[in-house]
Amino acid sequence: MKRYSAFAVAREAFSHHQGWERAWRSPEPKRRYQVIVIGAGGHGLATAYYLARNHGVTDVAVLEKGWLGGGNTGRNTTIIRSNYLQPESTAIYQLAHGLYEDLSQTLNFNIMFSPRGVLMLAQTEHELRAWKRTAHANRLAGIESELVGVERIKGLCPIINTEGPRYPVLGGLWQPRGGTARHDAVAWGYARAASGLGVDIIQQCEVTGIDVGEGGVSGVQTSRGAIACARLAIVVAGNSGVLAEMAGFRLPIESVPLQALVSEPIKPCLDIVVMANTVHGYMSQSDKGELVIGGGSDGYNAYTQRGSFQHVEETVRALCETFPIISRLKMLRQWGGIVDMTGDRSPIIGRTPVEGIFINCGWGTGGFKSIPGSGWAMAATLAKGEPDELAAPFSLDRFTEGRMIDESVAAAVAH
Ligand SMILES: Cc1cc2nc3c(=O)[nH]c(=O)nc-3n(C[C@H](O)[C@H](O)[C@H](O)COP(=O)(O)OP(=O)(O)OC[C@H]3O[C@@H](n4cnc5c(N)ncnc54)[C@H](O)[C@@H]3O)c2cc1C
Repeated sequence: MKRYSAFAVAREAFSHHQGWERAWRSPEPKRRYQVIVIGAGGHGLATAYYLARNHGVTDVAVLEKGWLGGGNTGRNTTIIRSNYLQPESTAIYQLAHGLYEDLSQTLNFNIMFSPRGVLMLAQTEHELRAWKRTAHANRLAGIESELVGVERIKGLCPIINTEGPRYPVLGGLWQPRGGTARHDAVAWGYARAASGLGVDIIQQCEVTGIDVGEGGVSGVQTSRGAIACARLAIVVAGNSGVLAEMAGFRLPIESVPLQALVSEPIKPCLDIVVMANTVHGYMSQSDKGELVIGGGSDGYNAYTQRGSFQHVEETVRALCETFPIISRLKMLRQWGGIVDMTGDRSPIIGRTPVEGIFINCGWGTGGFKSIPGSGWAMAATLAKGEPDELAAPFSLDRFTEGRMIDESVAAAVAH
């Protein structure tokens, strides 16, 4: 794989950019792999990359029914932060945040990481107390985050109206090195790097069945034929329940639509990410000038990648109160993804009831930020055949043992 560099761009300029090679290979599937990862979203691709890089396991295929990054990874609003509450969560989100900091250099692919700062508003007394608790927990975990007052918020975000009629702004939780990254680039960067290490990424290859015998998993049936494997990783976010059913077990997951929208592009007016969880809305400004807006998830299970109309209305109405200047903007487009929600709003990583099958799901509305950490932990789990230290608390059996990792404040609406 040729390295991307300023020198390479200059060299290619002399040959009319005809010499670039494809970013990743598109091989025909082999009959057998040591490890199959289902799902070429960020989590599946990062898993494959770290399997190859950290553990030397390169006999790996990533099977994707559509195009890579076409699931939630390419549909999300790209907020990256690590200011969660519980120690198990902060460990994995903080690892992910740290890996994001120099992921462009690691992958030799510009993921456009922009640590512009993430502000989570407190608009009720209850929320203010919750953020105070989170700020203390973050300090203990070594995470840079702080509780800020209204004056500071006005300084960080001059377009905000702190005296909204329904929910005045009372304070906020500020993570100065939170931010955003380009979602496609994260998927493309991991895909290119994994492919360069020998991983086969096979798009347009839907898994339609899972072969399970007495000794556990033996392979998968796909739209491109049967493929055998020793270990199988299910990393398909909103489709996790469907794949689990193919393997013969159930998951404590609900699949619901979550949507986002962008405005027409305007001049720079917002250089941080602001989240208003009480009113279910959050906003950042893209490099093109569009305001990227997201809201809460739909209240019913569905597999349509759209979302309901009333959520758009509610989100925009709420944000108009907090950011009056957006009231006359036109909205450009809207889309949705299917997110996989657990009861405690924490992910599931680890073994399943079927020998040889491992799962990574339940990241719900907030799994873009965790991609590097999740891939790291999942790769270690697959390589060893048992959950590694980071993944162990997120095992499936926590739901039967009552070991919940409650992140409903940090992750229920917030992304
Ligand atoms: C509107 C929206 C906004 C969001 N905002 C944020 C945010 O700001 N910050 C944040 O951290 N998170 C956010 N998220 C959540 C985040 O996008 C997800 O948690 C994360 O992208 C999940 O990644 P993944 O790799 O697990 O899943 P996906 O990216 O969905 O990848 C799973 C892949 O599996 C494939 N697949 C499914 N079934 C099969 C099959 N049978 N065979 C083969 N392939 C299959 C799918 O096609 C898909 O490509 C948001 C999500 C949405 C929808």
